[in-house]
Amino acid sequence: MSHDIKKSSKTDLYEYHDYYNIDELLSEDHLLARDAVREWVKQEVSPIIEDYANRAACPVHLFKGLAEVGAFGPSLPAEYGGGGMDEIAYGIIMQELERGDSGIRSMASVQGSLVMYPIYKYGNEEQRKKYLPKLGSGEFIGCFGLTEPDHGSNPSGMITNIKDDGDAYILNGAKMWITNSPVADIAVVWAKDEQGIIRGMIVEKDMKGFSAPEIHGKMVTSCVSDWRTCF
Ligand SMILES: Cc1cc2nc3c(=O)[nH]c(=O)nc-3n(C[C@H](O)[C@H](O)[C@H](O)COP(=O)(O)OP(=O)(O)OC[C@H]3O[C@@H](n4cnc5c(N)ncnc54)[C@H](O)[C@@H]3O)c2cc1C
Repeated sequence: MSHDIKKSSKTDLYEYHDYYNIDELLSEDHLLARDAVREWVKQEVSPIIEDYANRAACPVHLFKGLAEVGAFGPSLPAEYGGGGMDEIAYGIIMQELERGDSGIRSMASVQGSLVMYPIYKYGNEEQRKKYLPKLGSGEFIGCFGLTEPDHGSNPSGMITNIKDDGDAYILNGAKMWITNSPVADIAVVWAKDEQGIIRGMIVEKDMKGFSAPEIHGKMVTSCVSDWRTCF
């Protein structure tokens, strides 16, 4: 459904004050990364975020911009779609996004830390090559499905399971409160195998049986609230 974005009449006048001389501890690359993200938030996030929050809608168009400012996997190697920087750069970039909007920070940290990182760390080379560059460039959106309707703080109680039927793995279960899920191309889903060991599965949105409806009528702090969901 198309919608005219209501731009805020207020300008984001945020000014940074380095009361504790933190900047002295940062490299030139860190400062450049921070400035780029800070400016992007002022230009692209602050003017529109209230409108999206009021409509409980997802500003999907921001995924490309997030990729351009290096917000997806800043500390992963560049050949796998990351920024080739360090964990400090990652923290600084997330801090700037969070200043603008917590939901936008969630979009980025889920994509980088909860989708790209497990594929990089635990996936095979074929999976890394297939998914990581597209996730890093914002062409693909990813989500991370751990929480279940009855198993939040205690994920080891999860009911979602995988069975190996010889030709394929059969994944059964439901997840809830999953950031990015209604707009995601792939999901990293956690499930118990037949031995009760928890394993991560990469699920593509077009795979048979997958659905990710929105949850409506919730009240949480940010614009992501209405598009986390169950599948
Ligand atoms: C904004 C947002 C984004 C999220 N994104 C994702 C995502 O991308 N992927 C994902 O998998 N999940 C996501 N979640 C789910 C999140 O991880 C769970 O909400 C969280 O694990 C808590 O689970 P629960 O909501 O079922 O609460 P519960 O586990 O039911 O807890 C309810 C209350 O009981 C308390 N409690 C629970 N167990 C104990 C205990 N043993 N002793 C004492 N107190 C206890 C808790 O502290 C809490 O106050 C998201 C949640 C939110 C709010």
